[in-house]
Amino acid sequence: MVASGARSDSDDETDNTLLSTANRRAFRRTTMVFGVASLLGDTLMGAIYTARIDYERSDRLDITRKSGCSLGKVFAPSWAILGPAIAARRMGTESAESWAEYEREYLKELRASYRTQRQAWTDLLGRQQVTLCCYCNLKLVGDRCHRLLLADVLTKLGATYAGER
Ligand SMILES: [Zn+2]
Repeated sequence: MVASGARSDSDDETDNTLLSTANRRAFRRTTMVFGVASLLGDTLMGAIYTARIDYERSDRLDITRKSGCSLGKVFAPSWAILGPAIAARRMGTESAESWAEYEREYLKELRASYRTQRQAWTDLLGRQQVTLCCYCNLKLVGDRCHRLLLADVLTKLGATYAGER
């Protein structure tokens, strides 16, 4: 199959080598969604870290539906996509397909919130340093975690991902 026409995300291909295979798809998709959206322009954007929920320093932002603050909840997946994902994880039936579905739906929700709750995004990106927290133990789930997906999205908007705490 021959790709038709130049892709707007081709400039980001080199960056992809830094990403895990699992995140690469999300990264590409994110680039297409947010790539034209460097709307915050020249604002200096901060460093994004990720951590488990028990991280306690003042730069933490709980981005879970369950316990996030009002800002954090803007970036939390809805119960609609969270319910099946949690159930699958509990029953041990999570699969590449179920994760891909979750990822797709979560990115869709982020796109929507980016349109409808722009101020929250501006607030988040305006922070010098923020640590995105959720309940996942990456040792158990690898990179199947929304805090990593959100960190990727934020890098497309100019932030720097500084790693897992
Ligand atoms: Zn998570």
